[in-house]
Amino acid sequence: MADCIFCKIVNKEIPAEVIYEDDRIMAFKDINPVAPTHVLLIPKKHISTLLDLQAGDGGIMGHIVVTAQKLAKDLGLEEKGFRLVSNCKEEAGQTVFHIHFHLLGGRPFEWPPG
Ligand code: AMP
Ligand code: ZN
Repeated sequence: MADCIFCKIVNKEIPAEVIYEDDRIMAFKDINPVAPTHVLLIPKKHISTLLDLQAGDGGIMGHIVVTAQKLAKDLGLEEKGFRLVSNCKEEAGQTVFHIHFHLLGGRPFEWPPG
């Protein structure tokens, strides 16, 4: 996707603080962190929203969640916990239309979200 900022990060056209990468997914620090730990995990292939997932995407999405668990442990979030969230479309607050999970930790979070 030519005008997608996360595809540009995947293609190394714009920089990011990448903390994990393999052939299918990437994790990098959010440019505007809202918690002491704020990492974004994305599939390398462009999928706009959770509503655009297809049956064959289960493997890559599962891989993202399992990798988020590993990163959470590596980043020291195992003891106190963390939040893993994905916003879908405008009312949920999605601003970048390339699926991503936010891995958030390092402070208490409220529930329900605002
Ligand atoms: P959302 O609002 O759920 O779509 O989340 C998009 C996230 O992407 C926000 O938390 C932004 O701070 C983050 N973001 C936008 N541009 C970049 C970038 N170039 N590098 C890292 N994070 C970014
Ligand atoms: Zn994209």
